[in-house]
Parts: sequence; C-alpha cells; structure tokens
Amino acid sequence: MRCVWFREDLRVDDNLALNYAAQSGPVWGLFLITHDWWDRHGWGSNKRAALFTALESLASDLSNFNIPLIIKNVTGALYHDQVEIVLQTLATHHTNMLYFNRQYELHETDRDRLLAKKLLKQGGHLHVFDDLLLYPPGSIRTASNTPFTVFTPFKKKALASVDQKIMQGPKLKKQQELAIKSDLSSLVKVKPDSPDLFKLPITTIQAKKRLEFFAEEKLHHYELHRNFPCLDGTSKLSVALSLGSLSIRQLWNDIERQPDSLGKETYQSELLWREFYKHILIDFPDVCRYKPFKKQYELFDWNDNNVLLQAWKEGLTGYPIVDAGMRQLRQEGWMHNRVRMICAMFLTKLLLQSWQKGEQEFAYWLADYDLAANNGGWQWSSSTGTDAVPYFRIFSPWSQTERFDPDGEYIKRYIPELESLSGLHLSSAEKLGKFSQKGYPKMIKDYHQARQECLDAFKKHEQSR
Ligand SMILES: Cc1cc2nc3c(=O)[nH]c(=O)nc-3n(C[C@H](O)[C@H](O)[C@H](O)COP(=O)(O)OP(=O)(O)OC[C@H]3O[C@@H](n4cnc5c(N)ncnc54)[C@H](O)[C@@H]3O)c2cc1C
Repeated sequence: MRCVWFREDLRVDDNLALNYAAQSGPVWGLFLITHDWWDRHGWGSNKRAALFTALESLASDLSNFNIPLIIKNVTGALYHDQVEIVLQTLATHHTNMLYFNRQYELHETDRDRLLAKKLLKQGGHLHVFDDLLLYPPGSIRTASNTPFTVFTPFKKKALASVDQKIMQGPKLKKQQELAIKSDLSSLVKVKPDSPDLFKLPITTIQAKKRLEFFAEEKLHHYELHRNFPCLDGTSKLSVALSLGSLSIRQLWNDIERQPDSLGKETYQSELLWREFYKHILIDFPDVCRYKPFKKQYELFDWNDNNVLLQAWKEGLTGYPIVDAGMRQLRQEGWMHNRVRMICAMFLTKLLLQSWQKGEQEFAYWLADYDLAANNGGWQWSSSTGTDAVPYFRIFSPWSQTERFDPDGEYIKRYIPELESLSGLHLSSAEKLGKFSQKGYPKMIKDYHQARQECLDAFKKHEQSR
C-alpha cells in the first residue's frame, strides 16, 4: 500500500504525488495538523481556517475515489515531531511506500531529508515530486548556469522554455475500497479573525468556479483593471494556490487556452512572479532566515517606534489609502496587490520600520500567506530584495490614490468615517487636513519630511559601508 502525505497540495486533480501513487496501487492519504509548527511560522487563524476548509473538501473529494484520509494532530514545534508521527502512522497501517510533493522552505526541506533518511534505513520507499511549480528548481538558469536574481530575464527565459502545454499528471481513478477507514476526528474547525474570509475562493470547487468566471469575464481586462483596488479585477486565486486546492499547471493551461490579449499576457507574467520568488527562496535560502536578499542591508538602522508600528497595523495612520488597505486585511484576510505595495512601502520607507515586522504582520493576517511571495513582496517594497531599482523608489500615498483610487471608492469602502469626502480630498494632504473627520486620525507623519528622512537614512547607510 502507498501513503500520500498531503501538505500544500490539497486537491485530487492534477496532484502529481497522489496521481502517480494511485496509478501504481492502492493509496491512502495523510495530513498533519501542526499548530505549534504554524505558530512558529507566524500563521494566524485566517490561514488555518482556510486550510481546514480546503482539507475538509479534500477529504470529501478523496472519498469519491475510495481513498481514505487520516488526519493526525502533532504536538511540538520541531520537525522531528512530524517525522516521528509519519513513521508511526505508516507502521500502524503496514505501509512502507510514501509519496509527497516537495515543499521548498528551509525547515520543511530539513524535515523531509530526515524523514527520507529514516524511512530508507528501515527499508521503506520514498517518491517525491515537484508539483507546486511550473518549472522545477534549478531549471531556469542564466547562460553561466547561475540563478536569475532579476525578474524580467527570469521571465524571458521561463517563457522561452515553456512547452505550450505544460504537462499534467495522470488522471485519478476510483480504487477498490480499502480496509483502512478515514479518520477526520482531529479536524476541529478554527474561527478566522477576519469576518469576510469565507468570501474568498478556497476549496477546489470554489477556485475552479472563480477561475472559469475570471477567464471568461475578467482576464481580457486584467491589464487595465488589475491596479484599481475598488474593482474586482484580479483572480483572487492566491489562497487556493497557496493551499494547493488549485493546480498551478491547470491554472496556466486554462489561461493559455483563452484568446490572446494583453490581459492574458500580464496575468501569466504575474504567475511567473510567484514562480520567480519561489526560485529565489530555493536558491537563496537565507530569505527563510529573515535575512535581506541584499546583504548590505543586514545592519540597516530601522526605527523601532512601536506607536508608529501599531498605528500602521490598525489602519490608523491618517493616510486613507494605507488605512483602507490595513483594514481590508483585517476584514477579509486578503489585500489587493497594489495596496499591499503601498502599505509595505509606507511602513518601510516612510515610517522606516523593518520589513521583517511588516512581513510578520502580513503572515498573521493573510489567508494566502506564502513565505516566498510575502518575503519577495516585502523585500521589493523596502528595496532590500531583488528589485533592480534602488532605494529611492518611494510611493507617495497621495499620488498612488490619485492614480489608482481617484474617486476614493476603495478608501470609503473600508473607512466609513471618510464617506462624505471626494476623491480629490482623499488624494491630497492639504485638502484632507482641512476636514477633521469624525474619529479619523491626523497624519502620524508629514509625507515630505518622512520621505526626506528615508532618503537620508538610506544614503547614510550606503556611505557608511
Ligand atoms: C508586501 C507584499 C506581500 C505579499 N504577500 C503575498 C503572500 O503572502 N502570498 C501571495 O500569494 N502573494 C503575496 N503577494 C503578491 C500579491 O499581492 C498576491 O499574490 C495577489 O494580490 C493575490 O491576489 P490575486 O490572486 O487576485 O492576484 P492576481 O493578480 O489574480 O494574480 C494571480 C496570481 O499570481 C500570483 N502573483 C501575483 N502577483 C504576485 C507577486 N507580486 N508575487 C508573487 N506572486 C504573485 C499569485 O499567486 C496570484 O494569485 C504579496 C505582495 C506584496 C507587495
């Protein structure tokens, strides 16, 4: 018998480990609930609640194929704890063949290495697949066989390498019923912190429905609409991708089948950002250690004013677009990409707080939290990462509002205190300042002063090296 250990691949369709295992003989599934491990990784309740929803749906999908799922609770924040439970469960069910899809983060890699060693030592067999990526690690390289550290050439090489039809695995077939029965008793639901979390597509069926709608109705306009946070212009598939309830290959292929448009091209480019940051994490594992990609920023003198940090977290900075973003995050467990960039740049450049603090706050609230993408986004925004543009890229919250939320529709959705103001007032410090709004705070820092302090701090750091 074969065991498939599910991790970030909570689906039956186009799941390489599952589909190959089932092709070779009878299969049962395993999932580990690892709250202590997730605490250590900074996850909040939103990601856990989304995961449990996808897991419940996976159990039901597997049962249609007569594949039992055993869910085990693991106590302990060390990877050894997980290894022991996996080996014990395999022994209980007289199984010595284990299949899984690779995870790429540092601790996960160490855990899998230890498991492989122990399993092989006791005569077991391990089958590991690269399922979470379009391109396996190490497959996109420069002419001198080094990893790409800048997105555009990475993307060019990836697109040149892509076979028009990205290979999907064999189809899953219904198997004979096994003596092993599903055990879902550990699946105790988690209440999310964000009341609107379940409006996001989470399970396979929800994600496929959203994909179909997005591909037919939205993709064509993606390039035009994706930067306007008041519009429903993006796919909102990030949660499903991060949990693996949707296959990245299936997503790519479904998009590829759509008529050519600028929207399609841009959307595929965004999927390659996901790919790029995962390759960065694999090739530069220091990013898993909270270290900056650009080593020169390791000793940067960030500000540790907790009052500023707290105001940012709670959406009380007095900068409407920033506050709307941070309130969206708490309300929905998701934030629009343009606003993620604005909020991240505000914290790191204008409040000069370390990107690691922002990274942790997003990790806590985001249902789509993914270490590679989150780290990539934060380091891009703070100019410590792979971005080729140096530190003087500083978004002005005012001009970003003027360009991307000109009527203030997005802002007013999340900040009812500002309901009576026009877009013009919401995109100008002077105009907003004249209106003291019921309960809405004053700006915690003057923009021009903050911008200058940022430039001075980065310049000083550069000169001191
Ligand atoms: C500071 C910051 C933190 C972020 N943290 C995360 C995170 O934890 N998890 C996460 O999935 N994304 C993260 N992103 C990237 C991006 O904001 C989200 O993927 C996107 O907003 C999800 O919404 P969507 O599915 O509608 O995106 P769409 O615009 O529909 O894009 C489709 C898919 O492409 C991928 N993608 C798009 N943009 C990016 C990007 N810049 N980097 C990596 N992948 C991308 C995502 O998988 C996304 O679902 C972060 C960005 C920033 C600036």
